[in-house]
Amino acid sequence: MKVLIIGAGLGGLLSAAKLVKEGHSIEMFERLPDIGGRFRNINYKGYKLSTGALHMIPHGRDGPLATMLTELDAKVTIVNSNPFVSVRVPLNKNDVNYKNGFKDVSFNGFMRRLSIIKQLKIIWIKLITKINPPITGSFYDWITNNIYDESLIKISNSFCGWALSLKSDAVPTKEIFEIFKNIYNFKGPGVPIGGCTAVIDSLSEIILSNGGKIHTNAEIKNIVFSNGNAKGVVVNGIEYLGDVVISNIGHSETFDLYCNENINTNLDYFNEIKNIKPSAGVKICISSNEPLIGHGGVLLTPFAQRINGINEVTNIDPTLAPDGKHLAISHQCVQWKDLGNIKKEINIGLEDLKYIFKDRDFEILLIQSYHNGWPVNRSASGTDITNKTPIDNLYIVGDGAKGKGGIEVEGIALGVRNVMNELLNQSNVK
Ligand code: FAD
Repeated sequence: MKVLIIGAGLGGLLSAAKLVKEGHSIEMFERLPDIGGRFRNINYKGYKLSTGALHMIPHGRDGPLATMLTELDAKVTIVNSNPFVSVRVPLNKNDVNYKNGFKDVSFNGFMRRLSIIKQLKIIWIKLITKINPPITGSFYDWITNNIYDESLIKISNSFCGWALSLKSDAVPTKEIFEIFKNIYNFKGPGVPIGGCTAVIDSLSEIILSNGGKIHTNAEIKNIVFSNGNAKGVVVNGIEYLGDVVISNIGHSETFDLYCNENINTNLDYFNEIKNIKPSAGVKICISSNEPLIGHGGVLLTPFAQRINGINEVTNIDPTLAPDGKHLAISHQCVQWKDLGNIKKEINIGLEDLKYIFKDRDFEILLIQSYHNGWPVNRSASGTDITNKTPIDNLYIVGDGAKGKGGIEVEGIALGVRNVMNELLNQSNVK
């Protein structure tokens, strides 16, 4: 089987590596000069920053992505964070920000700050939801209806902002409970040694050494059809033919590549893809001489105005910064209503950092914002649709079609597995 792949981000590369290992012929096309999309290192002043991701693999060395990398014999080492999370809380229980001082506690320590009655209620609710998980409304609605507490709302916003770049009112409860199930099953997070690029390099090595072809500076302008099936792609005026097309660029962007063809796509699909929204965010890369956090997990900052959390990857992989330096990275979600005010959002994030790292020496290395065509997630968690399209031999992979309950790259791996199950079971042609 000959498979053509549009886009060489993590989703496209994972698909290609799996297919070449199964003996299929693949040819992939990336519009940029480099592969890796939003999961690639950027070398900056001796630091390994990135085009997107915070160098974190949400479920670490036992999650869906790591499992797939192991099956592919990818040469990459993922080290799990320990502790996986800490929470910065105000020193004084009644404060709602960090201005009068703070301390870091474990997640359980955070929960113990709630009243005994609320703690007991949470235990009871946990039992009930195991039997009967909620399926409607947002995570925010679910919290406020079940156990209203300001600090629980803050921590849920902090977690959703960090992991999904959404506020809790934009995350469907159904999806968040799938995510919790995965956190419970797979644990994590972890950091790939060498950062995002280590994962990308390991995949491209598999693809190239098994005869796959990767074209860069090769933007696909059209998908071409024959008898209602995709038969090829057009790049720089040249038509490449194949049996299957996998697109790594999301449903809507893929649809744009064939909407002028006379193809009978159903209206339901068109309406579904119209509702997919990307999630937006701001990332701030911070350098320091001494560790600011002191562990390789996530520091959640629920009492900050905008920053949802920070990681310090050099506590796991010191090579991500020059000798003697540390690299911390903060993330804040940007709500859709604030997209026109990104500069203001960044300034509030910078103000947060002054309080979060009060009396500490640090330097801002780089501020990056992510939205529209280069978002945090092409499809906000909970709004993902299937990996299939109305065209039988055209599939979507990547964070525009994540598998159920999959945070970021874990969702990409789950989606790629769905497509591979479908394709490889279908095909015995080599
Ligand atoms: P992409 O990486 O976007 O790849 C798609 C590729 O297709 C791109 O290279 C693009 O150039 C190419 N392309 C587009 N159009 C065409 C065309 N017409 N022809 C040819 N090529 C085309 N995830 C985590 O798991 N952990 C994290 O720590 C994390 N942190 C994040 C922090 C930020 C600030 C951001 C922005 C994202 C973060 N993510 C994280 C999410 C993660 O980076 C993305 O989910 C993932 O990289 C997306 O991979 P992808 O393959 O779906 O898409």
